[in-house]
Amino acid sequence: MTLADRYRQMSREELLHIAREEAGDLTPEAVGVLTAEIDARRLGPLVGAAIRAQTLTLSQKEVRAVAYAIVRRPCPQCGQSRRPVNAGVIANTYGLIITGVYDEKVLVACADCREARAKRAMARSVLLGWWSFPHGPFRTIGALWQNARTLRECEHRQKPTATLLNYVAANPLRALALARRTPLAPEASGSSPSGVSSTAAERSGRPSAGG
Ligand SMILES: [Zn+2]
Repeated sequence: MTLADRYRQMSREELLHIAREEAGDLTPEAVGVLTAEIDARRLGPLVGAAIRAQTLTLSQKEVRAVAYAIVRRPCPQCGQSRRPVNAGVIANTYGLIITGVYDEKVLVACADCREARAKRAMARSVLLGWWSFPHGPFRTIGALWQNARTLRECEHRQKPTATLLNYVAANPLRALALARRTPLAPEASGSSPSGVSSTAAERSGRPSAGG
């Protein structure tokens, strides 16, 4: 019996179990066969995403599917669903006379939480950012600009920001954990680990402002 035959004879639950839990242990060939069977049964893009997250590559379509699932989830920070979840870059800077620190982090949270965090970072950067020479003022302006942009993104988005899409592509396993309460396929019971770490200290790949 070929591997394709074996997957074909498996129940839907068995296939979903392998897709979610064991795909990381399969050979690339086996992953291909498994993905083909899952596509043939139309189990949905999140199942394919679950497989490839374990092999650490998501297709663009899967990145979008995971990102949209995160947008619809309650906020990982405050647990509320009033405003959509998304990702924004929070920039902090503070001066230490000679060497200043400039630091950007991706925050995945609802618009309320992102607004609060961006405003706090702006206030702190205004107070503490200027005092290093010679980069402090430039970094402060860079931090203010970045946080203002994050604030603007809080106003409208029901769809993933570029920051969220980049975050999902760069951190597929963590992103899938955030998206996980959305069932992988209709009727599939989604197990949902609690205590998902939501604040990713992942560099966004943006050029460091002010240099
Ligand atoms: Zn929140």
